[in-house]
Amino acid sequence: MYLGVMVRLDDMNVDERFKQVYDYGFKYCQLCNWKMEHYTDEAAELVRAASKKYGITITSLWCGWEGPRVWNFYDGYKTLGLVPAEYREARVKNLISGSDFAKKIGVTQIVTHAGFLPEDPTSDLYTEVVSAIRTVAEYCKSNGQTFLFETGQETPVTLLRVIDDVGTGNLGINLDPANLILYGKANPVDALDVFGRYVKDVHAKDGLYPTDGKSLGREVPIGQGKVNFPAFIAKLREVGYDSSLTIEREISGEQQIKDIKESKTYLEGLI
Ligand code: MG
Repeated sequence: MYLGVMVRLDDMNVDERFKQVYDYGFKYCQLCNWKMEHYTDEAAELVRAASKKYGITITSLWCGWEGPRVWNFYDGYKTLGLVPAEYREARVKNLISGSDFAKKIGVTQIVTHAGFLPEDPTSDLYTEVVSAIRTVAEYCKSNGQTFLFETGQETPVTLLRVIDDVGTGNLGINLDPANLILYGKANPVDALDVFGRYVKDVHAKDGLYPTDGKSLGREVPIGQGKVNFPAFIAKLREVGYDSSLTIEREISGEQQIKDIKESKTYLEGLI
């Protein structure tokens, strides 16, 4: 296993962002984009150049989508991923654009939050969501890519069922251990018993369980939350995972930099 860090395309200061990754001492990153207007040939060229200049390998492209997004247990169902019908078609197109952009920058894994995947496999919603995911996954396949589900908004067994039912053969999981806790869906160490064989990329993030029925738990610096990182890394090894741990700290500013550096030191001691 090796460490990486999340890089955002947000401000398009691509060279500066990759230099930061290099300065932190990482050789791997995940690239994340939420702005569809950034999927251009020009941006792809900037990414390729910066990645080469600083010797940084991009393990996965994390693809956002347009429209509202509310990360809680009420509005989340209505706004996130491919679940809400009113945004589904546009977001399938967004993810297809992401797949094409990934191809341009030579990345073979794309990741997204597909939304609160329905628990009931006999519901119409389940069938519609599975079908939409299949459209995206088949497109990724035609681009020689694997489509990864970011964990958190569903139980591990629901995710496993969706993977089986989409059935395109190029599906995997981007395991964010903190998300399983923040959404109160599972202990990430135990989740590996359910879907360990599908894990293709991992976020290193920590958090606390929810303490009310509406809001997610709180994200905290690595080592201060409920993810048992020594056990988690040992279990990843046991299921044969040998790729990157991408440090993700979803705050900004000086504290984010400090937390990323401390996480790096802490995780280096474990891998
Ligand atoms: Mg994550």
